This record gives sequence, structure tokens and C-alpha cells, in this order.
Amino acid sequence: MKNFKKLDEGFVCLNCGKKVEPLGYTSRNHCPHCLYSLHVDINPGDRANTCLGLLKPVGIETKKGEYVIIFRCQKCGKETRNKVAIDDDYSQILKVSTNGKL
Ligand SMILES: [Zn+2]
Ligand SMILES: [Zn+2]
Repeated sequence: MKNFKKLDEGFVCLNCGKKVEPLGYTSRNHCPHCLYSLHVDINPGDRANTCLGLLKPVGIETKKGEYVIIFRCQKCGKETRNKVAIDDDYSQILKVSTNGKL
């Protein structure tokens, strides 16, 4: 169960292979380089999900002026949402948001 703890502290992205440093102000839940995440939560931050599928960013929506990433799990197909983090790659966010519309 060590992997669960690691996600709060920093991890190696399973999609792009880059090392992701801890965010500091809140627990990081997705890769800032490619925006992929892992399906580890049932409710945000609980790490209670046993799916562990790769969450692919499939769209961006705005909520009260904040960007929210929409993910779709590549294993179980469930959609989840998560706020963007302060150091997310903005060009990736733009890319995902246009992919969703075109
Ligand atoms: Zn990544
Ligand atoms: Zn899943």
C-alpha cells in the first residue's frame, strides 16, 4: 500500500515517465506535464479506490473562473473532475480543452 502514500508526496507519472514533485499546498492528484492522473480516489483525496486505472484528461471546464480538468478512466470508464494545480502546463490545458471541442 506504499503507493497510496507516495501520491501525496510526489510520484513518477505512469503516462509520461516524468518525476512529479510534491505540490505543497494541497495533495497533488495529477501530472503537471501531461495532466494524466490515476484512478485512486472515490471521493477527492480519499485514496480509497482499488481501480488504479490511468485517468486521461478529456476536457476542461470552467467553474467560477477556475479551470477544472475532466478525466476519463482508461480502465473502468468513469469520469472524474479535478481542479488544475498552480504549476500545471498551461499549453497542455489548452490542448485538452480544444481536443474536447473539436
Ligand atoms: Zn505525466
Ligand atoms: Zn477506474
